[in-house]
Parts: sequence; C-alpha cells; structure tokens
Amino acid sequence: MTSFSELGIGKRLCAAVAGMGWNQPTPIQVAAIPEGMSGRDMFGQAQTGTGKTGAYSLIVLGRTRPGSDVPTTIVLAPTRELADQVSKEMRNLSKETRHSVAALYGGAPYADQIRRLESGCDVVVGTPGRVLDLHSKGYLKLDAVKELVIDEADRMLDMGFMEDVETIISLTPAGRQTLMFSATLSDEVRGIAERSMRDPMEVSVSHDEPVSDLVRQYYVEVKRNGKMDVLRDIMANGDPKMVVFCSTKKMVDDLYEGLSLEGRKVGAIHGDMPQARREKTIRGFKRDRMNILVATDVAARGLDIDNIECVVNYDAPLDPETYTHRIGRAGRAGRTGVSFTFVTPKEDRRIPSYEDYMDRKVERVTRKQVQKLEIANPELKALHAEDDGDGKPRREKVKVKAVVRKEKAAEGPGMDYTVISLDLGKEAGLNRVAVISHFTSKAGIGEESIGRIGMASASSFVEVDSTVAAEVLKRINGSKINGRKVRATFAPEKTRCRDKLAKR
Ligand code: AMP
Repeated sequence: MTSFSELGIGKRLCAAVAGMGWNQPTPIQVAAIPEGMSGRDMFGQAQTGTGKTGAYSLIVLGRTRPGSDVPTTIVLAPTRELADQVSKEMRNLSKETRHSVAALYGGAPYADQIRRLESGCDVVVGTPGRVLDLHSKGYLKLDAVKELVIDEADRMLDMGFMEDVETIISLTPAGRQTLMFSATLSDEVRGIAERSMRDPMEVSVSHDEPVSDLVRQYYVEVKRNGKMDVLRDIMANGDPKMVVFCSTKKMVDDLYEGLSLEGRKVGAIHGDMPQARREKTIRGFKRDRMNILVATDVAARGLDIDNIECVVNYDAPLDPETYTHRIGRAGRAGRTGVSFTFVTPKEDRRIPSYEDYMDRKVERVTRKQVQKLEIANPELKALHAEDDGDGKPRREKVKVKAVVRKEKAAEGPGMDYTVISLDLGKEAGLNRVAVISHFTSKAGIGEESIGRIGMASASSFVEVDSTVAAEVLKRINGSKINGRKVRATFAPEKTRCRDKLAKR
C-alpha cells in the first residue's frame, strides 16, 4: 500500500492530508502525483469521485511557495459549484502550508473577489468568464502563473467556454506546467490538450464497471418540481433499498431534509461532509438502519454494497460514463436491480446518449407505470435479513444490534438534552446536515450527542447532550458556519423541547 509521503509530497501537505482523514492515496493520486511533482504536463481522464482534485491540488501546492502577491496557480472549472468545491478542498489542503486560495466566479459580488486579489493570493480557482473579466479589468495578473489546471475540460466544451479557456491559456507564461482533466475523451478535448501541453503524461482512471444485464433501466419524464412525487411512488412500491443520486450538494441536503421531515429513515453523503461521517452513514446504510441513501457522485466511490435494489438518478447526469457508473450500483453480484432516471423536458436528449454509450435501451415509463413495476426484490430482502447486507458473519450483526439498542436507550427518558439556539437559520443556507457536520467537527462531539434539530428562517435549535453542552456552546459560539459568524446561546429553558423540534 502506497502512503502519501512515498509520493513525494512534503511533510506539511502530508499533515493536512492526514487532518482530512485521508488514510491512503486513491489510484489517480498514486499515478499522477510523483510525475506531476517532477513538473511534467499531464492529461488525466478521470471522473468526479476518483480523488482527482486532491491529485492536482497536491501537485500544485507541493510545487509552489506560499505568500505570493500575484497568483502562481490558476485552476479553471466550468461551474461555480465546482469552483467552490475545489477551492474549499484546496484551502483544507493548505492548512499547514498556508497557501492562500481565492475563488472567482460569476453571480457573486466583484468587491470581495477584487479585495482577495488585491491582498495577494497564491491560488485562484475560477470559472473562465469571471477570470477573464477580472484579468481584463486589471485586477488579476496571469504573468506569474507557474501551474495551470483545467478541470472538467469536456464540460467546459459542452458549456461553450473553450474559447475563453484557450484565451486564458495564451495569457499565461509558456514555461508553465499544465494539468488537464476530463471525464470523457473527445477529439476536441484531445486537440486542446495537444495545443496547450508539452509531451503530457496520460493518466486514465476509470472506475467504470460494465453495466450488468441484470439492471432494468427506465426513465421517467418529469417537471422539475414533480420529481419528489415520482420518488415517493417508487418508495411506496415495496420500500426498495435505494441510492438516489443528485448533481449538487445542495440538492442532496434539500432532499435529505425533505425526506427526513416526512419521517423517513434516510442518509445523505456528499463531498462537504467529513470522511468519517460519510463512512458512518454508508455503514448505517449497509446495515439497513436506513433504506434510502441520497448522494452526489462522490458516493459512487467506495460504495460497495451488493443488495441495492434500485438506483434513482434524481438529476440525470450529463455524461454517459457517470450514468453507467451510477446504475452499476444496482444489479451487483448477480442480483437483479432497477434504475430510474428522471428527465426534465430540457434533458431528454441525455437518454439517447446513455443508450449509445452502453448499446442498450433505457425504457420510458409513466408515473402510473412506476407504481405497478416490480421494484423490490424479495431475493435481496431475504439476503439482508440473513447476513446484515454487508456480507459479514452473524457475529457482527449481534454487535451492531447491541449498539443500536444502546442508542435507542440513550434517546429514551434517561437522556437529558440542553437546547442550544443559533442566530442563523434557513435564510443563511443552513440545514440539518450542515448543522450536524458543524457541531461534530467544531465541537468534537459524536453525532449521538446531538438530539433533535429545529430549523426556522433566521434561527435554529439544536438538542445537545447536557453533560457536554457548556463546552459545545463555547466552541460553537463565534464560529463560522457557511461563512457566517454564528451566535450560540442556551435556549431559555433547559428542556427536551421535543414538541418544538422537528424529527431528525
Ligand atoms: P474528487 O474526485 O476530486 O471529486 O474527490 C472525491 C472525494 O474524495 C472528495 O470529497 C475528496 O475530498 C475525497 N478524497 C480525495 N482523495 C481522497 C483520499 N485519498 N482518501 C479519502 N478521500 C479522498
């Protein structure tokens, strides 16, 4: 097993990596980092979920010194969401080296971004339009760039950004190192790679698996706001064990919140959650503590579960590789599975692209037909009843049951909760997932110490185990959540507050 230090990255980066809970490098990190650290250009074929962001970030952070006035690294990303995600990951990886990272994208005020540039920064992560814009206004200098990363090149093409990207490439020094990543390889993407790189090393990591014949694939035409109804129909049809894929983290949070409010047992995972928390959720899903897992594509990696009955593409993925990978979560180990892809009228061209790629049909069904299809798979249900769903022997199952009982008891009359109130709520973009994640990471408590959570528009209430509440309050008060400073106080009564707080 290769370790991060063996890949040639420095102590500080290794410490940051360890702090993020990454125990060992992913295959693309093993393949890319040593060559990349030597300065070689690189063309990587890799999808989200492979650890590609970590791969290129460690290379560029390892090769540049922090503390510059003008950026030495520029990362181009097609969407605001990706730019945001990448800049967060790079900030986490720079915790010890102290590189400063600025995110520049459209739809956000210029003033903050200009201030960031004027105060000096090492890394810029941005969308092509805003990057060019700030360059042409004289705020962003590109002549000191040593490292250029072009992420999701195929999506840049799809979204019509390639001209801007090529302009940006031409504005950076010829002696730079260029790293380019793309989920798919078209001639156009190859052409850009050839024009912008010197003798690039090619790295290809595909975590694709052939689509099993055992997956029955359907698509349902829905209006954007009608997806939840169809999802409910699928759930009502035998309560299948399912993974629901969404394209953004926000969508995952919203759906998780909606389903939890309906009282369903549901888990959620996405890239903003600490690794330990994601693993805990996946374990819970494997062990049937919940039947629904809502996820971004991050989940596809490491989600090795044999008894998933149904995959729902709540958002239809853009590229067919992601589609095949997602639906490959069902129909594993020789068992049958079903997949549903929701397509809005704008997205219906995606279905033929999946069919071409797989050379297989995806059948159209109406909402009525969904209610009648056979989704739940008795063979699989019997399987998880027998072995707990994760292939572990029965002894393990007994252990799990004991833990569950303890947690149930903890929620019972003996547990004393103190309610902490926060002066931020839904308006500040908060939701239950964000609150739990903030409390567990900032206050260092386990999820089991958190009771119910109530969300209002400008405030929230969190039940916390009374024995640790004072310490938790100290750590949360004044901390930043979603970029906003939060004031935490004890709610007026030291109370269980069950009626006020929604079910988590
Ligand atoms: P990406 O493919 O860059 O979108 O990364 C997918 C997810 O994997 C992100 O949430 C990363 O934080 C996480 N990740 C990247 N590298 C590792 C690693 N070596 N170990 C564990 N998680 C990782």
